[in-house]
Amino acid sequence: SDLPALDARITVCRACDRLVAWREEVARTGRRASFTHEPYWGRPVASVGTTDARIYVVGLAPAANGANRTGRMFTGDRSGDWLWAAFYRAGLAASPTSTAAGDGQRLIGARMGAAVRCAPPANKPTTVERTTCAPWLAREIALMPEVKVLLALGGIGWSAALRVTREAGWTLPRPQPRFGHGATAELTRPDGRPVTLLGSYHPSQQNTFTGRLTEAMLDKVLATAKRLAAT
Ligand code: SF4
Repeated sequence: SDLPALDARITVCRACDRLVAWREEVARTGRRASFTHEPYWGRPVASVGTTDARIYVVGLAPAANGANRTGRMFTGDRSGDWLWAAFYRAGLAASPTSTAAGDGQRLIGARMGAAVRCAPPANKPTTVERTTCAPWLAREIALMPEVKVLLALGGIGWSAALRVTREAGWTLPRPQPRFGHGATAELTRPDGRPVTLLGSYHPSQQNTFTGRLTEAMLDKVLATAKRLAAT
């Protein structure tokens, strides 16, 4: 697989001035007090998971003190903790927690990436930044012929998945499918094989603290993803 080579290229990307400055500034000076003495990754975050994954997660972007610190997607912040625990409950991860390289964690038949690979201020990438980062996602999906489910966490991941598959010549439903928790859209690869785009609310603290996204809701979406991936 060429995915490791792609990962290596992603981690040295400097295409977005604002995000390069922010990711490095947080790593240098903007640290949370509890992480003051920890090394920060401070670079783009490559995907994590197997190269023959059938389920590919499209998240939003690394968190400034989460993946931007640990260097592993969805690792080091509460929304990541939530997600890994759910993946473990669904049998898609080897352990309920993800902390850092060497912790024994691994995904089972799944891979996690994001629409934008660098931590954005206030978790809000600009439209231009989303456009600039999209080719990395496009290249990754092109290198994953086994994928049967694109699991979008939040509307930005959903839009990114639609954008890169459309640009890659996949057939998409019209009108453009709308994001929602549990929403699905049937996409067709140029060779005719189907892939389902599946939506889930993002496990951000804003969603999990307010109960907009519950564990049961996420478990249900992951059960759907597993079922679709098995067909
Ligand atoms: Fe490169 Fe994407 Fe980071 Fe922009 S957000 S610098 S395109 S990796």
